[in-house]
Amino acid sequence: MRVLVVEDDALLGDAVQVGLRQAGFVPDWITDGIGAEHALATSEYGAVVLDIGLPRRSGLEVLARMRADGNRLPVLILTARDTVDDRIAGLDAGADDYLVKPFAMGELAARLRALVRRAEGRSQPAVVVGAITLDPAAHTVTLDGAPVELSAKEFALLQVFMQNAGRVLSRAQLEEQLYGWDDDTGSNTIEVFIHHLRRKFGRDLIRTVRGVGYQLPRPGA
Ligand code: CA
Repeated sequence: MRVLVVEDDALLGDAVQVGLRQAGFVPDWITDGIGAEHALATSEYGAVVLDIGLPRRSGLEVLARMRADGNRLPVLILTARDTVDDRIAGLDAGADDYLVKPFAMGELAARLRALVRRAEGRSQPAVVVGAITLDPAAHTVTLDGAPVELSAKEFALLQVFMQNAGRVLSRAQLEEQLYGWDDDTGSNTIEVFIHHLRRKFGRDLIRTVRGVGYQLPRPGA
């Protein structure tokens, strides 16, 4: 899942980007408020990690505009120690959660997973479609209870399909979910990953909808 990270501190921003990547997210990192709004307008994200003190436009302003525009993406704000007013203002402006610096990367990743889970209306950590169970935290997938080994991108692609079960997704939509700005996207890679997933889960896992895209059907559909 793509996550927009907005943080002007170079060391912290880099650490967050590395930590989220290790946790299986696809982070894009921006260092100011105006850039964050541009990124939100042009890319599709599953969540936002938003620093409050930012150059050009504060995190609170970015958040307030998002909510005013009807953008309901889960937002986790980062605040400095001793700034309880920032946290109150952030939550009141529509933030879903906050972390006080310094924080552990593992906690950031866990809180993001919880926010995404809540946004999808799941109370269980695992995503289940038919015989497949995918656990984003443990990074495991089982088919009829038996573990299946997947590469990082195969896992990410399967997660996108499972979270959108029943929907037809275009190749562009899948690429949008799977790749951050820094990723090298060769041609045909989505098709290659789909081929791998079908080999591991059976040909009927993902339907090709000619001229439109791909679909992971809901069980019984
Ligand atoms: Ca800052």
